This record gives sequence, C-alpha cells and structure tokens, in this order.
Amino acid sequence: MEKGPSPFEAVLKQIDMVAEKLKLDPSTVEKIKHPRKIVIVSVPIKMDDGRIKVFTGYRVQFDMARGPYKGGIRYHPNVDLDEIKALAAWMTWKCAVMDIPYGGAKGGITCNPKEMSKGELERLTRKYTAMLLDEIGPYKDVPAPDVYTDAQTMVWIMDTYSQFKGYLVPEVVTGKPVELGGSEGREEATGRGIAICAREAAKHLGIDLKGARVAVQGFGNVGKAVAKLLYEMGCKIIAVSDSRGGIYRADGLNLPAVIEHKLKAGQLSSFEGCEGITNEELLELECEVLVPAALENQITEANADRIRAKIVVEGANGPSTPGARQIMQERGIFVVPDILANGGGVTVSYFEWTQNLHREHWTEEEVNRKLEEKMVRAFDNVLEVAKKHNVSMADAAYILAISRVKDAHEKLGLWP
Ligand code: GLU
Repeated sequence: MEKGPSPFEAVLKQIDMVAEKLKLDPSTVEKIKHPRKIVIVSVPIKMDDGRIKVFTGYRVQFDMARGPYKGGIRYHPNVDLDEIKALAAWMTWKCAVMDIPYGGAKGGITCNPKEMSKGELERLTRKYTAMLLDEIGPYKDVPAPDVYTDAQTMVWIMDTYSQFKGYLVPEVVTGKPVELGGSEGREEATGRGIAICAREAAKHLGIDLKGARVAVQGFGNVGKAVAKLLYEMGCKIIAVSDSRGGIYRADGLNLPAVIEHKLKAGQLSSFEGCEGITNEELLELECEVLVPAALENQITEANADRIRAKIVVEGANGPSTPGARQIMQERGIFVVPDILANGGGVTVSYFEWTQNLHREHWTEEEVNRKLEEKMVRAFDNVLEVAKKHNVSMADAAYILAISRVKDAHEKLGLWP
C-alpha cells in the first residue's frame, strides 16, 4: 500500500493551529510538540522454519502530564516511527478530550501478522514485552490493542510482564479477555462510542437515523462493531469493506449475515446479492453517515471534494488529513474527528484499569451507561468549543484537548 503524507506533520500542524487560535505561549508549545521518550527495539524471534528473523518494535511515550502513558500497540507492515509518534500524540489529545486521567503513548511492530503463525506472533509479542519491561507498568505506561492486535495479544503481554514480577498484574494492559480481568463491553467500546457520536451528530443536524444510509470502511474490531450498532439503531448499512475491498447494496445489507460470512470466509467480497466496490469508491458514496474505520490518510486533498456524506465520523486514527478536513468543512460536511469519535475504546480501557486496580468486575450495563455518559459529555464539550470559537468540530476537539494538556503543563511547571 502506498504511504500518504506524514501523520506526524499533521500533528504539528494541528498544534500550530491551536497555538495560533489560543495565542499560546511559545515555550509551552515547544514542550508539547516533542514526544517525551522514544524506544526502538530490534526483536529477534525464531520463525517456525527455524530461521531467526529480527523485527523492529517501537514505543513512543508522548506526554504524561495528565496521567500514565496510555495507548495501543499495532502490528502492521507500514508501521514506522513517524506513524507511531503521530498516534502517540493523538492518544494524548484523545485522553484529554475524553477527560480521563491518562497521558498518551503508542507502540507498534513492523510486521505482517497475516503471514505469521500464532506461535510466531506469541514469541514476537513476548519478546517485545520483555524488551520493554522497564518502560511499561500499571502506573507508568498501559498498552492496549490496536490494528491487528487483540485480547490474545494482551494476554501474552500481561503474562510475560507478570512472570517477571512474580505475581499477576492484570492492570498492566487493557483490552484483555473478560475471563482474565478484561472489562465487559471493551471489545465493542470503540464502535459503540462512534455510533453514539453518529447519533449525537445526526441529532444536532436534525437528521433522522432511522433509514439513514451508512457506509463503513474497515471491518476489523471497530468497523464491524459500529456497522452492527448502527444497523441495530435502524440505519441502512449500504456498504462495508475490508482491506481487500468492499460490498455495496443500495437497499441496505443484511448485517448479521455479512458478519457471519466474514467470520466463515475470512473476507467480504464473496458475499452474495450485492455489488463489489473498492475502498476508494466506498468513501465517495452518497450517504448520511460515512465511517472511515480502517487506517490513516484515506480522505486526502485528492478526494475530499468527492465525499458525498453529510456526516463523517472518524473511526480510525487520522483517516483524514488536516487539508481534507478543511475541504469537507467548507463543503458543509459535519466531521466528528478521531480523537473524539473513537475515544470510546480508551474510555472503556480506563474503566477496565480502574476495575483491575480495585479487583472489581462491573456489569455490561454499568460499563455501557458510563461510556454513554462520557461520550455524550465529550461530544457536548467539543460542540460548545466549536460554537464559542466558530470553528469545526475537528479544530474544536484539538483546541479542547491541547488546552487541557497545556493547563496541566503550566500547573506542573518545569523541573529542574
Ligand atoms: N488503540 C485504541 C485507540 O487508538 C485504544 C487505546 C487504549 O485503549 O489504550 O484508541
């Protein structure tokens, strides 16, 4: 896959935009533009055929003024330092927008998990964890799943960390299976948060979600959950896609059947009774709600003027570039930015961590109720800032997040 513009450059542009709007002190801006710590490890593992292969792993700890570092770990062939730095910054803003007591971090390993066996992935994860043992910790840096990592990956991290400590430390990672300290509702949380944002945005714009046409790009943990929840809310899911391409049906897809098909066939394109479309075509469909829930740089200045959705809810991290957001904003498209839209995942991660620290287990209703509250409050807070400064939701989310992080830095001062 071709790489788009540098995501970290987008981060710096976003900070500059906020600095200008809020007339921030240049020293504070300087302080928040740089990740606190970058760790790069060469991770050697034995492949199934006996060869030793060395993978590059990253952990970028961006900011901890508001709490322990927090953020997922992604396994993908395109992982590089620039991407992980951007994702770590976005985690910082996301935790600030959601108003949860965390800083931001991100990790990743450049690899293609689709071509690796479970045993190879386990050895890779455990070795990476062992090499980062001094960096992570329940009050220091708490990883979670991201693209192509899941609850099983988190179990390997928790177990490796615990083996070194000599006791079980479930609170060192979130996104674990429920049987091992995971939270009810965590798996669907990102999708649920996105669906709540779509609902709130529709309410704000006076659009009825019943029968509203929805297109979802990406059918991983996030895309699948959001499509299912919006389907249950009465939307017509007209298109979904995975990394190989998408399927389209003007009258709406039978979502439960699509999910079952993906589970059995491992891909979407062979689903019967619909048309095949590319990932690019999906983005340009006429619809009420578009959810890009795959990877970064999907909506750029090259295609932003062809987007025909009324609402774009950014499920992925960084799916639209700052320039693309600007174009969509000018064309009257209501964009709910990533750091708000997909904040449901890390919010339930925070609930999981809290439950672990107190050795509690909350019911799914309790988790979903608390998530609903947090999501609606964050959406309203961002909308308020948008109105106050007469800016888009995206700019408002960055203004809110960066000013919260800036406040923490100013109160902490600089030592020594
Ligand atoms: N990887 C998810 C994200 O980008 C979740 C992070 C977390 O739960 O810490 O928001």
